[in-house]
Parts: sequence; C-alpha cells; structure tokens
Amino acid sequence: MTTLTNDELFARARTVIPGGVDSPVRAYGSVGGTPRFLVEASGAFVTDVEGRRYIDLVASWGPALVGHAHPEVVAAVQEAAARGLSFGAPTPAEAELVQEIARRVPAVEKARLVSTGTEATMTAIRLARGATGRDLLVKFAGHYHGHSDGLLAAAGSGLATFALPGSAGVPAPIAAQTLVVPYNDRDALAAVFAAHPGRIAAVITEAAAANMGVVAPASGFTTFLAELCRAEGALLISDEVLTGFRAAAGGYAQVLAEAGEPVVPDLVTFGKVIGGGLPVAAVGGRADIMDLLAPTGPVYQAGTLSGNPVAVAAGLATLRLADDAVYARLSAASDALSHAVDAALDEAGVPHVVQRAGTLFSVFFGAEVAGGVPDYGTAQRQDTAAYGRFFHAMLDAGVSLPPSAFEAWFVTAAHDEDVIGRIVEALPAAARAARQ
Ligand code: PMP
Repeated sequence: MTTLTNDELFARARTVIPGGVDSPVRAYGSVGGTPRFLVEASGAFVTDVEGRRYIDLVASWGPALVGHAHPEVVAAVQEAAARGLSFGAPTPAEAELVQEIARRVPAVEKARLVSTGTEATMTAIRLARGATGRDLLVKFAGHYHGHSDGLLAAAGSGLATFALPGSAGVPAPIAAQTLVVPYNDRDALAAVFAAHPGRIAAVITEAAAANMGVVAPASGFTTFLAELCRAEGALLISDEVLTGFRAAAGGYAQVLAEAGEPVVPDLVTFGKVIGGGLPVAAVGGRADIMDLLAPTGPVYQAGTLSGNPVAVAAGLATLRLADDAVYARLSAASDALSHAVDAALDEAGVPHVVQRAGTLFSVFFGAEVAGGVPDYGTAQRQDTAAYGRFFHAMLDAGVSLPPSAFEAWFVTAAHDEDVIGRIVEALPAAARAARQ
C-alpha cells in the first residue's frame, strides 16, 4: 500500500487527471479541502489512505444499499469472476436481474441492461423520440439525468455544486431540443406543452429530485404530469437511477402509490443499487416501447460490457438481500438521523430545513430556504458556506458526508443504532460550526 498522504496523492492525481478526480463532485470543490483517498470500505465505514476510518454517508452515491462489501455480494462477485469476466454473449443472470426489477416495479414489462445511468436515460430519450416521431424533450431545472448532451441544461448534481448553467461542448441545436421548466410548477408545465403542440416526445423527471438536495414531488404533481403527458401524446420517463430500490423496495413509485398516487410511467431508468457497486444500469418500461430497440426494432443501442456477468452478479446479490428488514433498517436510520440533525441545528439556532423522499433525505442550510425547497431556484439560495463548515466539522469527527450541499445523504442497512448514535454525538459541535 502507498505511504503517500491524501494531500500528496491529490497533488499527484492533479498532474495527470483533470482536477485529480474521475467525477467532479469528488473534488471537494464547493466544501474546500482535500478529498480523502479511500482504500477500503466495509459496512457503514470507509477508510482513507492515512488509515482514518469514517462513518460513510455517501454510500458510493447510492449503490451500497446493504452496506459496503457485504460478504454475500463479495462472494457472488468472486464466484462470477472466477467463471469469466466478460463474454460478449447472453448469460442466464441478465434475465434474472430484469425479472427481479420487474417484480418490484409494475411499470417495467421489459428492460435492457446498460452500464451507467447516463446510458439508461440517453436510451430512454432515444426510445421516446423513436416511439413518438417527435424531437423535443422537457426536463425539470435541478434534475440530473447523467451527462449526455441534451440533459446538461440546468442540471443538478455537479453542475449545481459548481453553479454551472450547462456544459460547454453541447451544440446549440442539441441544447435547443431540451426545454427546461421549474419543478413542481403545474402552470409552467402546461405552458410548455401549449407552446409546442404535438412536438414534445417526452418529459423526463427524477421520480423524486435528489440531485439538488432532496425535493420530493408535491402531492398530486406526478399524477398531473402523467395525465398531461398522456393527453398530449408525450411519454413520461421516470428516472429512478438514484431513488430506485433505495427510496423504498419498489423505488419512489412505491412511495407515490402508497400515498395514493399509483403513477405508471412509460419508461423508467435505474442504476446505482441494481449494480450493487459495480456498473449496471437499466432502461425499462412498456413492452411495446422497449421492443422498438434493436434487434427487434429500429432504435439502436448497444454495449460491449452491457449485462457484464460480474456486475450483474453484484446487482442480483444486492437486490436479493434487500428484503423488508433492509428497508425497515434504512427507514429507521433515516428517521433517526434526519430528526437528530434537525434537532441539533435547531438547538444551535441554525436556520435550515430537512427534506425527505422515502428513505432519502438532505439538509438545506440558510434562512432563505428554511421555509421549504420546492424547486431549483429556491435550492440555489441555500447557504453553501454553512454546509461547508458543517461538512468539515463532521469529517473531523469521523463522519463523511456528501461533499456538496446539493446531494442527498445516503444511509445503508449497515447503519445500525450504534453507528447512528455515533453520528448523533458529532452533530452538536458541527451545528455550532455551521452557525459561525
Ligand atoms: N439519473 C440520476 C437521477 C442520477 O442521480 C444519476 C447519477 N447520480 C444519473 C442519472 C447518472 O448516472 P451515472 O452517474 O451512472 O451515469
């Protein structure tokens, strides 16, 4: 193992990797400081190269649902790897993974496996355009759907963290195909359809927004969206890459159904949890639309490593472990932690709001957002400096939060009462640090 420090490793990485990282938010760009170079992860903990152990609230940005390096997931990966790393031919486990997804999500009649969430949303959009013969796409400000050209307008995640309106390198004619509307705004949505009659192929929405902080759809909003799409002949694409099999066993669709909104989108995208930490994502939905994909249909999509046997083994093992007890644990951990953060910030007199979506939650700091955050315009008014102080106080106390105010906090089933108790102990000092 290397004897270099985090600082030395970051300095070296920056000489050969842009910003020293392979994905922007990892760079601590908005909270400041040196990212920790991790060498090990187990259960609820990660260990950095200097041997410091942290309670992890990033969970690899979602995949580590059952805890890092769960022995059964690792065993499944080892077994699959020993049989061969990649065949470029169909394998039995691919359909098993899709069946496992379909069993939990009624909207999925068929699905195709890809390797990243970006590919899944990209393919969903191409399918929607192929199915409708229309070009325009509607997305919501602050929603993140990966980094493909048409989806980087007013996007959340790293673009929100670094306050970027979009990306250089996206041709204007492509950007012009994406119409951006504020989230939770029925009038704006109706207006965009009225302004482009018969031209909108699809609306893509995070099932619950979690890349601008957590912003759940207002009651009735997703139903309104689904009905408007149907009436206008546009498809509804629900992006559950982040929420899928995490917000609840059946994703955020289940949370909505339990709240009396049984919305059935035309297409759904998944990622993160379905790979259990290895690269698997999926696009699924109505069989008639999915069958438009090659080789049965005219919409092309492919992937050398799609349905990779080792990655699929990790995903299947993870989903099979994710039983009611796992979701009960996630729910209890989210409840306990979100209430404790709320109380600690109240106690320290720090204006804030904690927002939930199923087992997901995040905290927005600042008086301007304390009344609640329904959309990106409001999320952008949060006090990111206060979050940065809070983040570093927690990190110093051995708790690793997402290094951006615009991200959800991720718990795992390994976040037991003892782990939550240790996080709670660190909160009062961090809350006071946020206040300064
Ligand atoms: N959609 C959503 C809702 C996401 O949260 C993400 C990633 N954070 C993506 C799509 C893109 O997934 P990936 O990073 O695997 O390309």
